[in-house]
Amino acid sequence: MNHFRDLIGQDTILTHFKNALEKDQVSHAYLLYGEKGTGKHSAAYLFARALLCEENRGKAGRFEPCNRCHSCKMALSGNHLDIITVTHEKASVLAVEEIRKQVINTIGEKPYGPRKIYIIPDAELMKDQGKNALLKTLEEPPSYAVIILLSRNKEDMLATIISRSVCLPTQPVKTEAIQTYLVDKCGIPESKAYLPAALAQGNLGKALYLAQNEEMGEFMEDLISTLRSAPNIGPLKASEAAKNASAKKEFSETRLDMILLWFRDVLFLKAGGHSSDLHFMEELKTLSGQAEFYSFTDLNRILRMAEKTVSRDYYDINYELSMEQLFLSMGVPKT
Ligand SMILES: [Zn+2]
Repeated sequence: MNHFRDLIGQDTILTHFKNALEKDQVSHAYLLYGEKGTGKHSAAYLFARALLCEENRGKAGRFEPCNRCHSCKMALSGNHLDIITVTHEKASVLAVEEIRKQVINTIGEKPYGPRKIYIIPDAELMKDQGKNALLKTLEEPPSYAVIILLSRNKEDMLATIISRSVCLPTQPVKTEAIQTYLVDKCGIPESKAYLPAALAQGNLGKALYLAQNEEMGEFMEDLISTLRSAPNIGPLKASEAAKNASAKKEFSETRLDMILLWFRDVLFLKAGGHSSDLHFMEELKTLSGQAEFYSFTDLNRILRMAEKTVSRDYYDINYELSMEQLFLSMGVPKT
């Protein structure tokens, strides 16, 4: 993201950063918290870039980074020496050694520019030792230092860290706002934007992934094609579909979300809902056909089955079996 205005739906953060930059009232510590994909990283890097932008320096009222100066270019390429992103080797923990090595031992070295910015993603993975080590730095930070913690939630931080930080939440973004973003900013056709926006459930990062990832696109096409012929699914096709599903377990969440949305669309049409409110707008003809084919009882049964499958664990060893039952439930022998 190149501009603060791209940070859609994050008004709290936007307003705060804009004020801080315009009035040059920058805190030494920030805690950005919210679900994965709600824009914590984008917000942190935008803020860092804006703080270091050569065009902004000494100019009151400016807050957007110019994206053209040397500093902005270095930052955009990920090579800015005064923006340090703390990494961790183990996926499940941000060890105290990493905090010492990457933050505490280097923060005393003067920056090349006016500020030195530390961005600490996955801050919730710090153990108490790491948090305490960081706290000491937060108590007496060098004047040039800005530390931005990114965490999925606020509760996982020590109260003493929270009290020394400006805490800013990221919010889930409204489906309509995500849809507009996909169409206006990413050039995705309107008819193809609604499904990723709906599936993303407020998570812009997820929407972008669903809309732009090629493998995901193919997966979604495949599943839609299976759903188109849902009423004709027999034991053979159900078993085949379940095998495919099991081979691509990583798409489990999206798969079940899509199945739920599909049959909710069918039910919605059957109940007399308007076609412009469908998730699968391009499938109107097929959905209408299925709305006539299935009875209310059928649809409720399929939806209940799908909901039950959703609540099962991703690592369930019976994943293939439960998917097979779900697909099988879609095929209704008409007498
Ligand atoms: Zn710049």
